[in-house]
Amino acid sequence: MESIMVKRIGMLATLSIMLALVLGVSGTAYSQETVEDAFFSIKLSVTNCFLLPCDGGYLMIDTSYPDQYEKLIKELAKIDVDVSEIRYVLLTHHHDDHAGFIAEFVEKNPEVRVIVHEADLAWLAAGKSNEDAAPLNGCIRVLLGLFGAFHKFDFPGYIVRDSDIILTGDDDELLSSIGVDGVILHTPGHTDDSVSVILADGSAFVGDVAMNFLKICCIKYRPIFVHDMPEVRESWERVLEAGAVTIYPAHGKPFDVGELNME
Ligand SMILES: [Zn+2]
Ligand SMILES: [Zn+2]
Repeated sequence: MESIMVKRIGMLATLSIMLALVLGVSGTAYSQETVEDAFFSIKLSVTNCFLLPCDGGYLMIDTSYPDQYEKLIKELAKIDVDVSEIRYVLLTHHHDDHAGFIAEFVEKNPEVRVIVHEADLAWLAAGKSNEDAAPLNGCIRVLLGLFGAFHKFDFPGYIVRDSDIILTGDDDELLSSIGVDGVILHTPGHTDDSVSVILADGSAFVGDVAMNFLKICCIKYRPIFVHDMPEVRESWERVLEAGAVTIYPAHGKPFDVGELNME
């Protein structure tokens, strides 16, 4: 009996360490802050979600893993925001750490409008992460191999409704029409459906097209999964041209756009 317990504890400890290594979880389970009073950053598991003020409430960028909805509600309470104030949820792409609880969110808050790229739709409906992206390098391949042994990349599927908004490419009208001073860019490379939000003040929310963690694997701000690296760099160029100053990645801390190596 005791040895089973010990084994289980050992397994849990190994899993936690592996998760921390693979996904860059810091000692703090979450963090939230007001960034220059312009928006909120809420960390749910390994994913940074962002709340941008818009007409009548907030635009939220990304959800997180399927089990993180309740955590979101708790974090919102700390900043005195009710979930009903979230009028829009924009998914930067369909992966499970970004779209994981969108189905639950909409079920509980049907008034919300979801903003997604058209290339998301089939994957979202199926609740599956497209596996056509490869690990960035050998180091990532090893870590993700370990992580993948314990993690399913599936999530509850979501079928877009008539009230949702489907993006077909860049969009320089939608955000301003809802009171957000910024544009949406189609920024593929990590996945085909990746989009970024660039605000007029230079804040750039890029999802996974740039990352800032796992420095031990020498990622240099590249995504740990890559569908097409030249395309990633083209997307970086476009983010820069759109006036980005500070990159807010979905994983890791914000960094200066000048850190991106375009070569
Ligand atoms: Zn991703
Ligand atoms: Zn991600």
